[in-house]
Amino acid sequence: MHADEPVLTPGILADVARVVVPRRDIRRRVQQLADAIARCYDGEELTILAVLTGSLIFLADLIRFLPLRMQMDVVSVSSYPGPAVRSQGPRLLLPPAEDLAARHVLILDDILDSGRTLAFLTRTISAMAPASVRSCVLLRKRRPDVPDRPEADFFGFDIDDEFVVGYGLDYNNFYRNLPDLCVLRDSALGGCGAGAGEAQP
Ligand code: 5GP
Ligand code: MG
Repeated sequence: MHADEPVLTPGILADVARVVVPRRDIRRRVQQLADAIARCYDGEELTILAVLTGSLIFLADLIRFLPLRMQMDVVSVSSYPGPAVRSQGPRLLLPPAEDLAARHVLILDDILDSGRTLAFLTRTISAMAPASVRSCVLLRKRRPDVPDRPEADFFGFDIDDEFVVGYGLDYNNFYRNLPDLCVLRDSALGGCGAGAGEAQP
């Protein structure tokens, strides 16, 4: 570990079962993603629309590699934790602050799982008359059981269908500060509130 890397309390590290993507790999890939995004939007002005809260660390790292004229905005989308609300689908809890008409919008999310969030947001933002709508996710979960999942235009890593935390992703709003993407020990899951598959916005 380098001297300038964060030192985490043993309390949080003790809950980690396994590192899925280490920080060094994340950094390298985020840089590559920024290069690809910069090539795609060469000469255009971009609005990055980050989905709260899981994509915040990704957003902060990515935009510092982006040599583009850009604006940034955030949205919050309700999750749909239990079977009782699943049929309601995602809702926009916090709409974009900026007028997105005629803007090139890049939706940025932490992870593509069922694809419902991305499908909903793409539909919602497209209705705001932007110049274009694309999407970028750090992670794609392998979900062969969801064959018609929407594709992200840019993605970082494919991972197995397991619940990950760290680098912005939470469990019960904890563990976002882990620098690596990790799987938690069973002993850290369960307990208060949401189940393992239920993330905070
Ligand atoms: P989707 O709508 O694609 O099913 O789910 C996307 C959202 O679910 C993500 O933005 C994220 O908030 C949450 N999510 C899905 N899988 C995971 C995971 O493994 N870990 C965490 N922390 N959140 C997840
Ligand atoms: Mg999310």
